Amino acid sequence: MHKLNIGGLFMIKKETCKNKDFVVIFGKPGSGKGTISSMFCKEEKEMHNLNIISFSTGEYLRKLKQDPKMYKLYKQEFDKMDQGKRVSNKLVIAAVKKAIMDAEDGIIFDGFPRNEYQAKWLYEYLKSIGQNLNSVIILDVPDNEVLRRLSSRKTCPVCGKVYNSDYKSNYCKCGHTLIVRDDDTEFVIKNRLNDYKKYSKEVLSYFKSLSDNIKFYNINANRPKEKVLKDFIRVF
Ligand code: AMP
Repeated sequence: MHKLNIGGLFMIKKETCKNKDFVVIFGKPGSGKGTISSMFCKEEKEMHNLNIISFSTGEYLRKLKQDPKMYKLYKQEFDKMDQGKRVSNKLVIAAVKKAIMDAEDGIIFDGFPRNEYQAKWLYEYLKSIGQNLNSVIILDVPDNEVLRRLSSRKTCPVCGKVYNSDYKSNYCKCGHTLIVRDDDTEFVIKNRLNDYKKYSKEVLSYFKSLSDNIKFYNINANRPKEKVLKDFIRVF
């Protein structure tokens, strides 16, 4: 909390009153949401000393799955994940709520919301703490590009960094062995793509139905990541 001395009176200004940036990044699996948002957050930190984080519910769940206790507790949820199906709202909302409570300067939500219930929760929760959802930024890529990207990508199970087929080593730059995600097989990728088509319509039409100031942007993400990032920075 900051104390402001205004006209001799001390006023308490809660941290929560500060306007933070809350943005949803949308796009098919493999559209580069994780890559672009992490590049953006790094740049914001270096250029403006802002601690905006990229919060991926999928990455959160993959980390949770590695904890044997959690794996046992939520096995049914992780089985759904492996098939490309969504996990329960309760599990992801609890994680997102904690991330929002800890947010210093803002959050880019990656993989959340994934249905109208989550979208409504996000919108109303931000309002209840005096914050707003600024914008929804959609990364557009064609289906064949998604299939090409996902069937050749490797992920670090520890730091979450994603590598494409150009990266020949089996080791992450952080030193850990890279893996192919359990849900990056052709059959599951197709399920995830179909799921995206369903939930993106539902979530976007909910946000668009609100008479609020949320902005919507589409970016062509079928280009080198530096170009995509430039557009992302411009609209953020
Ligand atoms: P992602 O990394 O965003 O592709 O997510 C990987 C998987 O995690 C999804 O296929 C879902 O099983 C699960 N998941 C991630 N985010 C959510 C969410 N908001 N709601 C439900 N399930 C989710």
